[in-house]
Amino acid sequence: MKSCNHFSAGGKRNMSLVNCGQCGKLIVENQLRMNLCEDCFAVQEAEFAKIKETLRRRPGANIMQLAESTGISPTKIMQWIREGRIRLEI
Ligand SMILES: [Zn+2]
Repeated sequence: MKSCNHFSAGGKRNMSLVNCGQCGKLIVENQLRMNLCEDCFAVQEAEFAKIKETLRRRPGANIMQLAESTGISPTKIMQWIREGRIRLEI
């Protein structure tokens, strides 16, 4: 006889708390936001949009030039490149 243990296995999952990867605030884990809190995620998306826009205007720009004209740290830009979110011709 099968027991109805799918009640506990399915739908209800414990939400795990993580620290925001940017400011360290305690938040509910959210893969879609890359575990950033709402504020930091919004900031990051804005910065990301800025980089994309700059890349469109200056297709040949390198990381340092991008960092200079957007004010975003080269480390962050490199991270996006590694994650495959933006593509740079180096
Ligand atoms: Zn945050």
